[in-house]
Amino acid sequence: MQSHGILHVVATPIGNLGDLSFRAREILRQVDAICAEDTRHSGQMLAQLGIDRPLIALHEHNEQALAERLVGRLREGQSMALVSDAGTPLISDPGFRLVCAARAAGIRVSPVPGPCAAIAALSVAGLPSDRFVFEGFLPARASARKERLTRLATESRTLVFYEASHRIVETLADMCVVLGEERLAAVARELTKLFETVLDGRLSALRARVEADPDQRKGEFVVIVQGVQDDADARLIEGRRLFARLNAHLPPSTAAKLAAELSGAPRKALYATGSDAS
Ligand code: SAM
Repeated sequence: MQSHGILHVVATPIGNLGDLSFRAREILRQVDAICAEDTRHSGQMLAQLGIDRPLIALHEHNEQALAERLVGRLREGQSMALVSDAGTPLISDPGFRLVCAARAAGIRVSPVPGPCAAIAALSVAGLPSDRFVFEGFLPARASARKERLTRLATESRTLVFYEASHRIVETLADMCVVLGEERLAAVARELTKLFETVLDGRLSALRARVEADPDQRKGEFVVIVQGVQDDADARLIEGRRLFARLNAHLPPSTAAKLAAELSGAPRKALYATGSDAS
C-alpha cells in the first residue's frame, strides 16, 4: 500500500530573510509542491534561496475548494509545504481548512516552527509573558472594535493584537478609552526589519507618540497590552461598563446602585467616569 505524504506547515521570516530556519529551507527544497498565500511574494523569497518547486496559490477565497484536491495528492504520497506571506501559517493567515482536511484524512501534519510576529513582540515587550491571549486583528468597524475591547477590558492575561498602519492611531485611541489611559502597553513595529522600534509605556503616552510622529505609523504592528493586575481594577472597569449601559435606561442613582451590586465596585467610583467605558 502506498504511504501518504506529509503536509509540512512551515514558518517563514517576518522581515529578515536570515530568520528562515535551516530545516525550513531543507523541507522547502524537498517537497513536491509549496502551497503559498501569494505565489508571487513567496516565489521571490524562494528564488532568493535558490529553491525552485511548483507553487500552488492557497488563500482565503479558494482554500475550502482546494483542500480536498490537495488532500488527494497527499493521499497519493506527495509531500507538500504550506507557507504564508510571512511568519507562521494559520496565525491570522490561511491554512486552517487545509490542516483540518488533512488531519481528518489521516495525513500527518508536521510543523516547521519559526518566526511569528506575536511571539517575537511578546519576547521583547517587557510585559508579563507567562499568561497571554492572542486576539489577532481587532474588527475594522469602530463600534465592533470598541465592543471587542470592552469584552477584554477585565482580562487579567496580557493581550496581544495585530494592527495595520492605517488603523494604529484609531486602535490606540480606542484602547485608551476602553482599557484606560494608564494601562501599560508596548507597540512593536517592523520587527526584524530596518526600522524596527519597540515603544513601551502607558497607553496615553504611546498614543501621543504614534500620533505625533508619522514614522511611527508606518509598517506592521503588534500591540501588547498588560492585563488587569488587580481584582479591584477589574471590578471598577466592569462596574463602569455596566453603569454606562444602565444609565441610558434608568435614573443615574438606580443605574449606579445596580452596577455596583452586580460588579462589586464602589458605587461612588462609578459616577465619576461612567461614560468612558461605553
Ligand atoms: N502569520 C503571521 C505571523 O506569524 O506573525 C501574521 C500574519 S498577519 C496577516 C500580518 C500582521 O502580523 C501584520 O499586520 C502585523 O500586525 C503583524 N506583523 C507581521 N510582521 C510583522 C513585523 N515584522 N513587525 C511587526 N508586526 C508584524
